[in-house]
Amino acid sequence: MIFAALQQALDQRAAQGLLRQRRTLETPQSPHIVVDGKPYLSFCSNDYLGLASHPHLVAALQQGAQQWGAGAGAAHLVSGHFAPHHTLEQRLAAFVGKPAALLFSTGFMANLGVVQALVGKGDTVFADKLNHASLNDAMQLSRAELKRYRHNDMAHLAQLLAQETQGRKLVITDAVFSMDGDLAPLPEILALCEQHGAWLLVDDAHGFGVLGAQGRGSLAHFGLASPRIIYMGTLGKAAGVSGAFVAAEQVVIDTLVNAAHSYVYTTASPPALAVALLESLRLIEQGEALREHLQALIVQLRAGLHGLPWQLMPSDTAIQPLLVGENELALELSGGLRERGIWVAAIRPPTVPQGTARLRITLSAAHTAADVNQLIEAVHELAR
Ligand SMILES: *Cc1c(COP(=O)(O)O)cnc(C)c1O
Repeated sequence: MIFAALQQALDQRAAQGLLRQRRTLETPQSPHIVVDGKPYLSFCSNDYLGLASHPHLVAALQQGAQQWGAGAGAAHLVSGHFAPHHTLEQRLAAFVGKPAALLFSTGFMANLGVVQALVGKGDTVFADKLNHASLNDAMQLSRAELKRYRHNDMAHLAQLLAQETQGRKLVITDAVFSMDGDLAPLPEILALCEQHGAWLLVDDAHGFGVLGAQGRGSLAHFGLASPRIIYMGTLGKAAGVSGAFVAAEQVVIDTLVNAAHSYVYTTASPPALAVALLESLRLIEQGEALREHLQALIVQLRAGLHGLPWQLMPSDTAIQPLLVGENELALELSGGLRERGIWVAAIRPPTVPQGTARLRITLSAAHTAADVNQLIEAVHELAR
């Protein structure tokens, strides 16, 4: 068997409770999904505002396909850059308060492209230890020197920044940590960047659309504006569609257009997606009621999951992880919930550190208070 070593590695994963498998949804993304013919109440999408199946977005996508066809047919620099892409970039830049923006096909690709284009051999990247996997891969790809600081530990970051280095300095952080739900102390990080002449890349995958006035994201949440901040927002989570964008000074965007491989050497995303995203941006801007409802659900969940053998991690965002510890226990709880018709993902290493397996509960404005109550009661039942 030529692939025996691969099978062995998979078997080993399975024995450790670490084998990953996909589940196939038979219904659109929403709190109520069907998997293997069975209905579930789901708490594991990143569709924070419930826009993924919103009729306005579906209509905009249909209209966009009517007008612009199904595919872009080329990379942006060849003949794949369409009017809706361009309009969307301008709207996104204005929305997050930056001079310019650039669309990427996914957040993963945006992160790879930005870091690879802006730093290289002889430069240094400073990164939070709990940053998203795409940022970790991005810095490896860049060939810059890597310095990782303990999660949100500003003293550690300051110490690393103070060390003698040559070349450019780039600090990289998630704004909302994807597996923990807590926020990076962006004002403190920016102050350190200013003090040490570093640039700051903020990955706002989980803040864009949700945090700040009108959902403008983490920079708005903290009231931060600085030319040294390079902002990355994704469009497949709260925005409900697909893709990502980087917003920054014009010279940074021009550099990415010329040097970010994951921008230059890939087919542009379908212009119809940009049409749908323009509608999504309108819904986000006018989505104060959705964000208030989401906030109320967060408060309700945290109050309801008090006094369990497991603790909710400190988080005020829609990401509410219940820290369980052991992989097997996390799987058991996730399985127990599933038997009760509730879908919550068990997150295990290497996505999170050893011994910190967790149920990653994510809330959406599409949930009702009754949905959240059902989850609370099921978790208490499992605890007994
Ligand atoms: C989801 C995510 C990404 C990747 O974005 P995609 O558009 O899904 O590729 C990047 N960073 C963080 C923090 C994320 O959670």
